[in-house]
Amino acid sequence: MLMRRKISIILAAVCMAAFCSCSFGDTNEETAQKTEFFAMDTYMSVTAYGEGAQKALELAKDEVERLDKLWSVTDENSEVYAVNGGGEVSVSGETAQLISFMLDMAKRTGGALEPTLYPVVKAWGFTNGENRVPSGDEIQSLLKNVGYEKVSISGNTVTLPDGVMLDTGAVGKGYASDKATQVLKENGVGSALIDLGGNIVLVGSKPDGNEWKIGVRDPDGDGVVGIISASDCAIVTSGAYERNFTVDGTVYGHHIIDPKSGRPVDNDILSVTVIASKGRLCDALSTALFVMGKDGAVAHWRDHRDFEMIMLCKNGQAYVTEGIANRFEADEEHSEMKINVIEG
Ligand code: AMP
Ligand code: MG
Repeated sequence: MLMRRKISIILAAVCMAAFCSCSFGDTNEETAQKTEFFAMDTYMSVTAYGEGAQKALELAKDEVERLDKLWSVTDENSEVYAVNGGGEVSVSGETAQLISFMLDMAKRTGGALEPTLYPVVKAWGFTNGENRVPSGDEIQSLLKNVGYEKVSISGNTVTLPDGVMLDTGAVGKGYASDKATQVLKENGVGSALIDLGGNIVLVGSKPDGNEWKIGVRDPDGDGVVGIISASDCAIVTSGAYERNFTVDGTVYGHHIIDPKSGRPVDNDILSVTVIASKGRLCDALSTALFVMGKDGAVAHWRDHRDFEMIMLCKNGQAYVTEGIANRFEADEEHSEMKINVIEG
């Protein structure tokens, strides 16, 4: 666990944004203010520009830390921990909103985003870094308690049957990035880069008026495969390179679980980057589209069209939706990568 944290911090120091996406080229260092902290089990940083930025950053950090305390699945004092104890539990309005959003996205993605996978994620050791490979029988028995339709929510009251447990890991950081954005804007910040463990929000454009440059990480290495130019949007990547582990020489995937099999997803995708107006939508979708695989993800995009995506696949090719295609450029070292444009 500790080692994983250290690795993520080192990566972050190199790339400025941990795990998935990297930002480049601050142009106005004189007025840049930055805060860095560890929350939601990952490295986070927020950079803001202009007068009053320092105060706004402190408030944004406080907001993320406050939400972490509400939504942590491992903190015995959190609201989600209380919900996971079973029965009828009354929660704050924002926790109710998070849970409702996760359930809506579970429905929208046909259960590819599965908010009740916690017992399975825990059995694989992804919650404490002590990874293990559960037996087929164990997985089958845990899957009996998995299914978003088992969760009921009425107003601020959440009810889970015994044994059913929520996991906020796929959506919490994205949701928190939207809340942090709101705090920055309310405090007069018009230009900022929020990076909550690779969940990026670009507030406005760079202080010089240019678009931000965000790197899409190479799933097979430490560098980036390409750069997205964008402003005023959220960008989130889910990748097969995160949190993998080896047992007896076999590398076991990563932390995204296929809710049907209860095992780490193994399909044609290495990473999915989602670009949309809200961090929570990007976060929920990047996880779900990763589970769906390339064809499922393309079908989902054609059905909804409220996001753009960049998929890096095991065949070495990139698949990019038409709305982002002219804003994504391969990195010099990946100039040979085939970029396929997905049309509506
Ligand atoms: P992300 O990095 O946003 O793709 O989220 C991955 C995290 O979400 C994992 O660490 C698990 O805690 C949780 N998770 C894994 N698989 C799923 C899934 N299919 N649906 C919802 N949450 C998941
Ligand atoms: Mg996610």
